[in-house]
Amino acid sequence: MSMSDKPLISADEIERRVAGLAREIGADFTGDAELVLVVVLKGALIFAADLMRALDLPVSVEFIQAESYTGKGSTGDVNLLHLPKARLAGKDVLLVEDILDTGRTASELLSWLNSQEPARLLLVTLLDKPAKRIAPISPDYAGFEIPDCFVVGYGLDHDQKHRQLPDIWAL
Ligand code: 5GP
Ligand code: MG
Repeated sequence: MSMSDKPLISADEIERRVAGLAREIGADFTGDAELVLVVVLKGALIFAADLMRALDLPVSVEFIQAESYTGKGSTGDVNLLHLPKARLAGKDVLLVEDILDTGRTASELLSWLNSQEPARLLLVTLLDKPAKRIAPISPDYAGFEIPDCFVVGYGLDHDQKHRQLPDIWAL
């Protein structure tokens, strides 16, 4: 697979949009309550690191990891590999995702998080690829809507490579 000759989304565009998302989120979470960012490993790592520094709010950070079976004979099942250890009951929780494609992963993560009885549960995704959405979910905050292509960079990988690229590229 080869990369396009210019990025789909440049580092500058990402930086401006992340600041915009932080303002949107900040406007919805006012007051002293701490916001728990539940970051989806591994892809949302870089987005979350930038977003939390742009948020003018008290936050804490937890991680969650899921594995989806998309191979041959796929049922679209999602396996939860790592769960937050902190108690989320009664907390304001924001699930931080890199990309929403079919929506199955986020949907499973949201249903697990809901079972922990948070006071509020919202979803932010850097990228939204609505073309192949199957699960009936839509993000509360989305950075960029993109067409149905495979992207890497800014945390997103192809076979664990390219996560460190500052821009987002279509393969
Ligand atoms: P879902 O189909 O469950 O919404 O997406 C599950 C996961 O597939 C995402 O969290 C992400 O890890 C991966 N994924 C979907 N589209 C892309 C893409 O364009 N690039 C990369 N690197 N991963 C993707
Ligand atoms: Mg992911």
